[in-house]
Amino acid sequence: MEKSITKERTMAYISIGENNRLNIPDNPNIGYIEGDGIGPDITSTMISVVNAALEIAYSGKRSIIWEKVAAGEDAFEKTGKHLPQESLELLQKTVIAIKGPLTTPIGQGFRSLNVTLRQHFDLYANVRPVKYFPGVPSPVTHPEKMNMVVFRENTEDLYAGIEWKYNSEEAKKLRTILTKEFNVNLTEDTGIGIKPISKFRSTRLVRKAIEYAIKNKRRSVTLVHKGNIMKYTEGAFKEWGYEVASEEFEDKTVREDAYLESPGSYQDRIVIKDRITDNMFQQVLTRTEDYDIIATTNLNGDYLSDALAAQVGGLGIAPGANIGDTYAIFEAVHGTAPKYAGMDIANPTSIILSGSMMLRQINWFEAAQILEEAVTQCYAEQKVTQDLARILNIKPLKCSEFGKEIISRMRGRKDQLAN
Ligand code: NAD
Repeated sequence: MEKSITKERTMAYISIGENNRLNIPDNPNIGYIEGDGIGPDITSTMISVVNAALEIAYSGKRSIIWEKVAAGEDAFEKTGKHLPQESLELLQKTVIAIKGPLTTPIGQGFRSLNVTLRQHFDLYANVRPVKYFPGVPSPVTHPEKMNMVVFRENTEDLYAGIEWKYNSEEAKKLRTILTKEFNVNLTEDTGIGIKPISKFRSTRLVRKAIEYAIKNKRRSVTLVHKGNIMKYTEGAFKEWGYEVASEEFEDKTVREDAYLESPGSYQDRIVIKDRITDNMFQQVLTRTEDYDIIATTNLNGDYLSDALAAQVGGLGIAPGANIGDTYAIFEAVHGTAPKYAGMDIANPTSIILSGSMMLRQINWFEAAQILEEAVTQCYAEQKVTQDLARILNIKPLKCSEFGKEIISRMRGRKDQLAN
């Protein structure tokens, strides 16, 4: 009997239906990459917390079959490759996966494994929710006003890697073309990078942000850009953003100017606004509560998402995901923290909350809710790992102990509801 259940369960892959809709079985196989450094500690804690949340929310009706995907230093030792072909195939099969941090291999010819994964699965949106957990030490006076989700374009902009060193043949050729054909003169000591921003990629990113805003009943989507200076890249991003809102979500969205003229007429609409990047960095500090979902280009998003995370306690806590039209990989947003590797002292919150984002992605909202409430409760009671205990001057929990505290609060909540 046990055997047949196992067999049946191992067949339960998520499949992709019409219009990229995911068919989610009750016991899906989900891929996980343990990660390097602190990866194994935080990933195993995340798995035990997510398993407990599922058990508590669904009493065995829904569960995850975790499939280990080899990547990083461990894979390199065994196969000579940091990301073997079989791993990519397995991730293709599971559709949804979660990963710990991976060391970026040093040396010529290595791309970051994260970049490789994003490109291979066309994970074009980097999604980073940032909100405050009472009890977490913060550098700002009102961290509780922060509740934003950044949608950062993941595949183009200056991060596309199209650049040449000042003394390369390519840079020389380009400088010559610019001088001869465009009357643009660059000195011989000028390196060149290209900033591609396309309509297709901007539009799909903003579309995803608006769809998220609608699904999660959020208030606004702010297009963050530096279009006052870079008109045909950043400026175009803004224009295309407004365009997709009005053409595809006409009855669900309203532009900020129209909304401000008559707020009462647009109560249920998502307000679409735009801000220049430098102004936005001030606004998130001075008018934090005015911002909700942010859609932005790659470079802006990189800076902005870390700055927002810093306002509410840093990278150890903030979750993240790379999401495409079908595939999605959820991740701890921090690195491998090698000095804490194997010591069971790292903070697993980032990957645990990424696990919760993953549950929401497959529409298992009840388990996600239970999990997030328990994390919130732990922070409110100042049950924390050493990174925060040090600042608060209190006794730290180990990584695995923190996981157990979360689980005991989830169980406590269930008992409370049952009585
Ligand atoms: P890092 O995030 O590993 O460390 C920065 C600081 O934060 C360190 O002091 C570290 O000890 C601390 N820290 C990070 N996460 C923590 C946690 N969960 N709990 C407690 N403390 C934590 O960044 P780094 O030192 O610049 O990078 C180390 C390695 O990680 C590099 O190889 C880098 O390429 C890689 N990296 C990977 C990812 C990823 O896979 N997504 C992201 C960033 C860096």
